Amino acid sequence: MNAPLWLKFQIHQFLWAFGYRTFRFPGAIYVYLTFRCNLQCSYCDNGSGRKFPDLSAVELSPAEWEKILQGMIRYSDVLLLSGGEPLVYPHTLEVIRIARRIGFKFISLNTNGLLLGDEITEAVDALIVSLDSLDREKSDKMWNRQGATDHVIKTIERLSRRRNPSLMVNSVILPDNIEDVEAVLNFCGRNGIAFSAGPALEKTYAVKGLRRNAKYRDLMEKILAAKMAGQRIAATVDYLKAVAKFRPFKCHPLLVWRIKPDGELVFPCSRKNSGAGNLIQNADPVQLFQMASGGNFFEVNCGENCPLSCYMDTSYMIQRPLGLLREGLYRLRTFSHGHRLIY
Ligand code: SF4
Ligand code: SF4
Repeated sequence: MNAPLWLKFQIHQFLWAFGYRTFRFPGAIYVYLTFRCNLQCSYCDNGSGRKFPDLSAVELSPAEWEKILQGMIRYSDVLLLSGGEPLVYPHTLEVIRIARRIGFKFISLNTNGLLLGDEITEAVDALIVSLDSLDREKSDKMWNRQGATDHVIKTIERLSRRRNPSLMVNSVILPDNIEDVEAVLNFCGRNGIAFSAGPALEKTYAVKGLRRNAKYRDLMEKILAAKMAGQRIAATVDYLKAVAKFRPFKCHPLLVWRIKPDGELVFPCSRKNSGAGNLIQNADPVQLFQMASGGNFFEVNCGENCPLSCYMDTSYMIQRPLGLLREGLYRLRTFSHGHRLIY
């Protein structure tokens, strides 16, 4: 069922309070258009220790995405496009136009920004652009592409002068770029850009060197302090406090439904995907989830505690209603319309 996001969260919160969970009522549909990428980041990891660009996956045509998205609009009208690098997929603009025609009201794009042109910029509601350091030489080495960082910084500066789409910068934290992420945080503060950051992962765990790292904790405290001071930070206070110490949490991985480039419905999560089935062959996601979970959705809590905001923070939003209320009020005050929805 498609319903307003606030109502879906309340349903999940209500069920959680009584010990139930459901894969129904997703907050968003997350589509990996491709696993290919024009960067080779040192920290890239799909959850099983492999880099996204090394995965070979069949890519669907716009007509096939149309079929899938027509089935998805009944469950959510929020579409998050990602990859790999989604702009390496040659039909991204066409898929966005199809999604609009079908009725998706909010469309965001996660991108490294290298191939971003005006048509895509104008077609989406929000852009999430990666930037891990302002130090061009160091960042180019991390991304394995000379000149990429300067191009991305200029793109971000240009986008920050536009009112639409909403813009957010996302940083990946590694043991050797902690000060750089702080510089990106400050850069975003100066330019009025929303910011998010999270630890780099190796499979389902934070990379070595972040746990018990005083500089890492200090950075997370600075991000929290920036949020409390009114800077636009896209993570709840609960998440920022927990991820600073890598606290365990109870994962609710299906608040966002994810679809791989070949149309496979991800189950239970992108890190531990065993695949619920392909939506090209069976367009009914609920049936696929029921079969994949053997009717017992309670079993999917794997206990690995991977500290990704898209899983950990959304789980907190269900389990801590007061934290979600506080975040909602904070976003009404500080975020533009588009960013109120981004996760
Ligand atoms: S931009 Fe993303 S998908 Fe591409 S190499 Fe870097 S981490 Fe991997
Ligand atoms: S903690 Fe959640 S996101 Fe991480 S592997 Fe387990 S189910 Fe997946």
